[in-house]
Amino acid sequence: MTTARQGAPGSTRVCPHCRQTILESATVCPVCRHHLRVGTRTTAGSGTEAAAVSPLRVEGTIEHPAIGEPWEYSVMVSVRGASGEEISRHVVGVGAMHAGDRRTFELSVEVFMPAGTTVRAPVGSGG
Ligand SMILES: [Zn+2]
Repeated sequence: MTTARQGAPGSTRVCPHCRQTILESATVCPVCRHHLRVGTRTTAGSGTEAAAVSPLRVEGTIEHPAIGEPWEYSVMVSVRGASGEEISRHVVGVGAMHAGDRRTFELSVEVFMPAGTTVRAPVGSGG
């Protein structure tokens, strides 16, 4: 196998509760919110914990009018690199909306970084 050494940044595992692919370092599954055992790996040295920030969170609601034919929807998420290359692309949900239905869609990106990492504030962030 050519898998990265256990504990390498970006390593993944399968949540034992919901079977989704999540970060190996996750202590709580972001999908089903079950607490997870962190395996046998212990953080070498200082016992630093990763700090989590949510640099992106978008939420929107679509409402079908009270009359008319049903609508269909498809929720696609794409991750691209610095030169625009697609790293991953997934349809995470599809469904139908009938007259009067409402659906709220939420996308959130969490970033985990070693404790003590300093993050430069984005340009133009007011204040
Ligand atoms: Zn889960």
